[in-house]
Amino acid sequence: MYRLPLVAILDRVEATLEERRVELDGLDAALGDGDHGTNLARAIARLRREHGELAVMPLDEALREIARLLREEMGGDGGRIYAALLAGMAEAAPADGELDLPVAVRMLEAGIAAARQEGGLEIGRKTLLDVLQPVADALRRHQGEEDPEAVGAFLVAAAGHALHHTRDVPAGWGAAAALGETSIGHIDPGACSAALVVGAIIDAIVEQERR
Ligand SMILES: [Mg+2]
Repeated sequence: MYRLPLVAILDRVEATLEERRVELDGLDAALGDGDHGTNLARAIARLRREHGELAVMPLDEALREIARLLREEMGGDGGRIYAALLAGMAEAAPADGELDLPVAVRMLEAGIAAARQEGGLEIGRKTLLDVLQPVADALRRHQGEEDPEAVGAFLVAAAGHALHHTRDVPAGWGAAAALGETSIGHIDPGACSAALVVGAIIDAIVEQERR
């Protein structure tokens, strides 16, 4: 059983998204209004400022509070979908906050289901779901493994492969859907931020495990 290092995760996610903020804005500029990286970095910086409170909350409450702050600070479709994802994960979080991989699978799948319901998302429409569903599938396949570093490597590989595939499909959701075929050739910014967040969370967990 395992307790998530929430503060270390928020630190790592913030550093990663700040580092890639300009790149994410650039991806969004090709398909939308060019602010995805800036919105996300601002929202995560707010979470970091409140990490002291978040760290002492039970996991389900912390996830709900993170969802609320993301919806408020990030705004737009991105904020709405990320908030639904985290609220869905909170619903499936264990009462004692102790995680193992099968529990993590159920939480991620519950979050994906909530995001799908909130936004009417379908896989293959060039959204963050195109990364998160393959990551959840990989987590389910490897939920019996012992070594977190090995599991993490499978998840990062799944995220990277899936992210590149968003280049090949036309946008089918949100404002970008109006671009139709002209959106082909561009990576989805939401899928990219989701892949970066997955990688940052895994880095933080693996680093804690090494100590
Ligand atoms: Mg935008």
